[in-house]
Amino acid sequence: MAHSHSQRIIIKIKEFALQSTAFLPKEFLSLVETIIPNHLNMDDFITMCNTPLRKSIRVNTLKITVLDFSEKMQAQGWQLEAIPWCETGFWLQRPDSQTTPLGNTAEHLAGLFYIQEASSMLPVSALVYNNPDLELILDMAAAPGSKTTQIAACLDNTGAIIANEYSSSRVKVLAANIQRCGITNTAITHFDGKIFGEWLPEMFDAILLDAPCSGEGTLRKDPNAMKNWDLSSIQTIASVQKELIKSAFYALKTNGTLIYSTCTLNQQENQEICLYLKKTFGDAVVFESLENLFPHAHKALTPEGFLHVFPQVYDSEGFFIARIKKTAQVTPTKIQTYKGIFPFSPLSQKQQQLVRNALSNSFHLSLPTDKTLWRRDKEIWLFPNSITPILGKIRLERTGLKLADIFNKGKKEQYRWQHAAIMALTDYNHHSMLEVTTELAREWYMGRDIKTEIKEGMGEVIISYQGYPIGIGKWVRNKIKNKYPRELVRDNNLFI
Ligand code: SAM
Repeated sequence: MAHSHSQRIIIKIKEFALQSTAFLPKEFLSLVETIIPNHLNMDDFITMCNTPLRKSIRVNTLKITVLDFSEKMQAQGWQLEAIPWCETGFWLQRPDSQTTPLGNTAEHLAGLFYIQEASSMLPVSALVYNNPDLELILDMAAAPGSKTTQIAACLDNTGAIIANEYSSSRVKVLAANIQRCGITNTAITHFDGKIFGEWLPEMFDAILLDAPCSGEGTLRKDPNAMKNWDLSSIQTIASVQKELIKSAFYALKTNGTLIYSTCTLNQQENQEICLYLKKTFGDAVVFESLENLFPHAHKALTPEGFLHVFPQVYDSEGFFIARIKKTAQVTPTKIQTYKGIFPFSPLSQKQQQLVRNALSNSFHLSLPTDKTLWRRDKEIWLFPNSITPILGKIRLERTGLKLADIFNKGKKEQYRWQHAAIMALTDYNHHSMLEVTTELAREWYMGRDIKTEIKEGMGEVIISYQGYPIGIGKWVRNKIKNKYPRELVRDNNLFI
């Protein structure tokens, strides 16, 4: 007996329910069936949902070049296949013998790469595409930081990024990833994203709203991703997304670029959010086509020029990306002014020079010229100059890098240099570091001191492993005291 198309889908859904490892609600499959483009089919969709996701990484070019990284890792048997929409992204295969979790490899701990799903690299590629003058950027829903760190790498740590996150626990993960990747141009904020429009209208050259969503695209990574899925929760999430996108649009400068992205597939959270923005602000909203973002982008292109990535198109997770230009000013009904105290003041030229000299004497390091030193009590911080328009206008949780604590030795001020800052400022193969063996590098990450035969060492020293910095230590006779931050110490499953 011949079955109609929809009967065949129902049969497929039933078969699928019997074999599937991923949990896919029937209503979800029916919904996908109504939106899947004509050139794709449900069989491939269902098969792909049950196919494990390819591993992918993004090389952190703030720490190492793609060429140096590829050579280094290929020598360890890694096979890297270029991801067409991100120059620094690769699908990865490791030899089966390498059982250390990717996140515990020496290269990951040192921030040489970020583990990031391939399609999740698309929003930042869309943001920086043909966009040379990016100075001040808002990443409105930033944790855990894959895209903040990607933007920072694309900008080569210039300009400034406000990385905002609403969830307190996720702010910590965001801060840790920013630190591990050696990012120097970021300030972290902790707000509901919907406040930015009223607090910082017409402020940002570009905004990424990688919105909280129902996560339908993520079920290849997490077979239980759909356990709490239902149509009514989509409505609730969509109303949050509308608030967020409106706020983002107000906070964007005229002629600025807004990227709206989600890792979900339904249209209520994707196309309809963008169309809502257009309905609200009319001609001030222009959708910019992503057709030429990379070869084969047309396979995911919607009539509006968005990318709606079903998992089978590029063998990835599901994603949605829209690029929107603001062509005219729009004014929020209310504008808020910050009354909090800004506790930092800039160092004088003379004080700046003292710190620069001390840093050079200790580690042969210099400070980037597009950053300025600021002081709060006994702390010295390095702020990106491009953050200046924001200072005093909103509460910043953490800005730039804490460079040093000041302490007094007699009448003279001395500096206790901070691990994260020194790691961020030290280049791969910096000429003045103490290189350690694999065994000692493992000990280092476990927080242990290093015994050495060398007796003449003095003061502080940057420790390196295979040419990249992993921490600062202090010579005490024939030992180097480990100053690796206690909260980063780990002793399980480390690289061998
Ligand atoms: N952009 C991140 C990345 O690439 O690593 C992923 C962001 S995730 C899709 C969405 C984030 O939005 C979550 O971390 C969530 O806690 C946060 N969030 C939820 N509601 C928010 C709100 N009202 N304002 C700002 N962030 C919010």
